[in-house]
Amino acid sequence: MIVCKFGGSSVAEAQQIKKVKKIVDSDPRRQVIIVSAPGKRSKDDEKVTDMLYACNAMVQQELSCKDLFKKISLRYTTILSDLGLQTKPFLPVLEEVRQMIDAGHGAEYAASRGEYLAARMVATYFGWEFLDTDPLIVINHDGTVNPETWDNLKKALKPNVKYVVPGFYGCDPEGKVKTFSRGGSDITGAILASATKAETYENWTDVSGVFSVDPRLIPDAKVIKEMTYREVRELAGVGAGVFHEEAIAPILASGIPINVKNTNAPSDDGTMILPTREIGDHPLVGISGKGGFSRLSLRKLMLFKRTGIRHALLTMLHIFGVRPSFSLFGVDSMVWFFETTQASDSVLDAMCSRLKGEFDLEEVSIDHGHAIVGIIGSGVMQHSSVIATSTNALAHDKIGLNFFNYGSSDTSILIGVSDIQAQEAVKSLYKALF
Ligand code: ASP
Repeated sequence: MIVCKFGGSSVAEAQQIKKVKKIVDSDPRRQVIIVSAPGKRSKDDEKVTDMLYACNAMVQQELSCKDLFKKISLRYTTILSDLGLQTKPFLPVLEEVRQMIDAGHGAEYAASRGEYLAARMVATYFGWEFLDTDPLIVINHDGTVNPETWDNLKKALKPNVKYVVPGFYGCDPEGKVKTFSRGGSDITGAILASATKAETYENWTDVSGVFSVDPRLIPDAKVIKEMTYREVRELAGVGAGVFHEEAIAPILASGIPINVKNTNAPSDDGTMILPTREIGDHPLVGISGKGGFSRLSLRKLMLFKRTGIRHALLTMLHIFGVRPSFSLFGVDSMVWFFETTQASDSVLDAMCSRLKGEFDLEEVSIDHGHAIVGIIGSGVMQHSSVIATSTNALAHDKIGLNFFNYGSSDTSILIGVSDIQAQEAVKSLYKALF
């Protein structure tokens, strides 16, 4: 059996959903499909999920979302009528959702309804069973999948029944609707692929696979034919879109191949994501960069003499809502990079004075505007020329480095640059290495 996840652009309008049906009908092994909420139909359009978050924000300000919700209703009723389906039976469903949002059921409930409504609509069009993920998929408070999920799905899924499943949400251990992080329908797809022991997990989107570099930066960027689970995680971790980095965890043990494919060009091979691959002449798969980081630097003589100090420092950071993504250690110093959006300047000021006082530090400073660029590939450690080539290219293009991290992963080299030079760095490295 093949499990297919269709992203927001594949269900954005009736004409796209017709393509989805054609794809699904062309292979009887495609028996379970997961859908996102309708995405953008054009560059300036709005995603239904964003509108739903906006509805909730209005309710938080004690306003009704009634007017804004009309736009959402119109998205669904337009698709339904363009598919030749009746809108009438759907109206009370839409109204119930609106009332629940207005009653203050919160951001996660509101956001989840985009997928809920999309899956119900697609199930009606296909004549397939709608399978709700609340309460089957149990999501822990830290966003990981609760093991109860596997038993729940095993009991719910009947053989030879075709299902349309909403992506992005499940419920928390207390039974309240909970979403994964943004783009999380990929995770739902991976869960269903694992639960059904699928032969392939197809991830259908609007590009023909995972690109070796952002095609907006390098117009003739190539699609990666084959990459490993670890490579896709590392590439997504430094900003490459297309596939959610948390979607590997649910299928890691089963080793199910993932095929990223294009709904608008279904005969393109797309990208195969596998547990391992032959490195051969392809030590690297891609380069990507992610900006918006701040740097916290700490210094103290004999910093590491105190046992457990890293743990204590991290606990303090967590109290202020700061969760570092990358770290570096010196003899008497530590540096952490974290996403700037995690805390305001005033929170960071308070955090620095707490750190300084409590740990008796000589120096604590924070500066913003950092980016991390990753060179990703399973062969990165086997080809020592990669280091020389990359540093030479960056020096030639006058791109300054804040750090160079080689050896903490066998699949990536991470390079710290300033936000403003991040795109240049990606281009420079791509030209030199690919
Ligand atoms: N609709 C959700 C989002 O926009 C989840 C998804 O598309 O996978 O993030």
